[in-house]
Amino acid sequence: MLLPRLPDAVPPARHEIAVSYISRLATLHGMDPQILWMQVTRPERDGAARRVPIPEQLAALTGRSVYALAGALPELRDPPPDWAMFRHATQVGCQLCDARHPGGRVVRLLPHHAYVCLRHGTWIGPPDIDHPAVDLSHLPDVIDAQRRHHLVLRRYGWQATYDAVLSAFMICAHIWADGRLPGEDFHTWNTWDSRTYTLIPYDHAAKSYSSYSTSKLFAAIYPEAIALAPLIASPYWRQMASGTTTEQARFFTEVSKRVTYPCNDPGRGDAVAHWAIADSWRPPSKPLTTYTPGRVRGKMSPLHASRVARHNNSVKWYSRIQRNQGRTLLFHNHLKPVLLRERTPQYVKWEGTVWHSSRTDDLMKEEVARRRKELQAGAARLRRQRTENARSNCTDQEWVVQ
Ligand SMILES: [Zn+2]
Repeated sequence: MLLPRLPDAVPPARHEIAVSYISRLATLHGMDPQILWMQVTRPERDGAARRVPIPEQLAALTGRSVYALAGALPELRDPPPDWAMFRHATQVGCQLCDARHPGGRVVRLLPHHAYVCLRHGTWIGPPDIDHPAVDLSHLPDVIDAQRRHHLVLRRYGWQATYDAVLSAFMICAHIWADGRLPGEDFHTWNTWDSRTYTLIPYDHAAKSYSSYSTSKLFAAIYPEAIALAPLIASPYWRQMASGTTTEQARFFTEVSKRVTYPCNDPGRGDAVAHWAIADSWRPPSKPLTTYTPGRVRGKMSPLHASRVARHNNSVKWYSRIQRNQGRTLLFHNHLKPVLLRERTPQYVKWEGTVWHSSRTDDLMKEEVARRRKELQAGAARLRRQRTENARSNCTDQEWVVQ
């Protein structure tokens, strides 16, 4: 039986998850969110604890069509979307957008390319500690980078763009982590530092950088990452990067026009050269985990105490003088898919994986060349098999026709 319509059925927010919307409806009508959740959901399969929304019940409850609801709530879509196109973790978005949606916290499942709210000029960033979105009115180049990000997405598709932006973030983080050498007066590093001071000002009352969040450090390097992303996504530049020494030199020159490169210190790693040697000829990386629709319980859980404690610890570390923002970024979960590629050797500690991602030594080159030869041989074998299968099918069909 369909449920009666609620008197104040507010619309869902774009990309909102079902539990967040149902919880807001319950709060607005003075109901228990858990009871309403049980009424409009069903078990994912027989005996499963995880429950998924019933589109028809939600439509009857709100007086909105299933089609209109599914436009905003990805979990209601039929057929379901490719969950790999969305981030694996939910997050809060722009609080100025959320102000139009009463009833409590709006939790969304955003696509990979959502970093800035272009309507309000605020930084949403990757999933972090759920701080309010940051005003970017003093950093118009960060807002503009989101527009350029959309252009990359339109040209190369979500998977190539996803890999390119994360790889570019990783390269910029390495350059930032390595620091500036004496004599390097103009360095992209200066721009990143200056943006960081704007985004995370010193709180004199608290005597710390209390507004710190790692997501803001991503904002500081976002314009340069988006400048590098088309090079990493483009099949032409990928071919240059994995080609002859002359072709590689063209690629490195193009990189140096967009970010300070090369770093003239043989003691430091070279993330750009590592990417050109080890990754440019491989298919783009995929997300390590994908979102699972549905929930066991219908109540929005508050931020876990361990996450809050971890964040407070990060603020404490950041407030120390010897902070290294680039290194902090390399240790953030957001960059894991491009640092922890399946073919990367397994290291006991994360430091090893980070160190590997900027290696250019002979041992690494030999290992990459061996792996590349194996993959090429495997691909050639597969092509040969397909051709033989196609030939035998064709012969069978000709025989049947005769
Ligand atoms: Zn907004």
